Amino acid sequence: MLEVKNVTKYYGNFKAVDNLSFSVKEGEIFGLLGVNGAGKTTTFRMIIGLLDVTEGTILLDGKPIDYSVTDKIGFLTEERSLLIKMTVREQAIYYGTLKGMKEKKIIERLEELLAKFGISEYIDKKIKELSKGNQQKIQFIMAIINEPRLLILDEPFSGLDPFNVELFKNEIVELSKKGSIIIFSSHRMEHVELFCKKLVIILKGKTVLEGYLKDIKEKYQKKNIMIKADIKKDELLKIDGVEEVTEKADELEVKISSSKIVDNVFKAVSKKKNVTKFVVEEPSLNEIFVSKVGEAYEK
Ligand code: ATP
Repeated sequence: MLEVKNVTKYYGNFKAVDNLSFSVKEGEIFGLLGVNGAGKTTTFRMIIGLLDVTEGTILLDGKPIDYSVTDKIGFLTEERSLLIKMTVREQAIYYGTLKGMKEKKIIERLEELLAKFGISEYIDKKIKELSKGNQQKIQFIMAIINEPRLLILDEPFSGLDPFNVELFKNEIVELSKKGSIIIFSSHRMEHVELFCKKLVIILKGKTVLEGYLKDIKEKYQKKNIMIKADIKKDELLKIDGVEEVTEKADELEVKISSSKIVDNVFKAVSKKKNVTKFVVEEPSLNEIFVSKVGEAYEK
């Protein structure tokens, strides 16, 4: 388990992370989310020991993260850090050796991963000769070459096409099933929603929302109702608690402030003709993120 307990980080007088706490169990994929400058990269750097915490503790399987555990960690940084004059093979040997692996094992694992990502032919090519997307794949392969106990992925999908996002996603899920603890950040909420069980949203280093995605969605009172019926937008807008009505193709999307309003909307719709759809939907993580961050900014 990874435990981040009451962690605070100052850069000089500036508080970049403010009393942050969360924990991630093995086999869980955790999302560390926030707008630009929220403190994600700072938090990642503290977790892997690149930066000292000002206050608080960070434990991996009950122990502080130091040299004795660095070979159990994989980190895909936001700023890409490949040694571009090396070939893929040389790079893998370099990273793998740093992680305490034997050369034979490194090459076996490299060949397996290159094949998975459909780029086996690049094994003896220099990194600088590869396309941006393929460099990204190599960087990801380097981060997971040692099947890390703790894997940190800072914006892993940036610059990838949807097909390759899927390949990365499958590999991340597979590592998680094998017992890796995985934390990742992304500004793309649809990616987070796809496979994060648990998350924290931070703003100016402070927690705005934390917990299991399922619970967060259930607790979040605002819902959307999708309606197909002979009813006018204005009639729906008159109902107390209806915040917004949007016409989408041949249906209406009604945003309501609380699930208590569903009954009132249903009553109004049921009096109408041609009702073929009335579906109450959970809000997307993107809606929750925008709303929670907006509320926190207003405070
Ligand atoms: P982004 O999504 O833009 O990458 P982030 O959430 O990763 O942002 P951080 O890079 O952790 O944010 O930065 C958090 C805050 O700390 C920002 O206000 C940033 O300007 C500040 N900061 C980061 N590094 C330093 C530093 N070395 N010295 C001083 N301030 C810093």
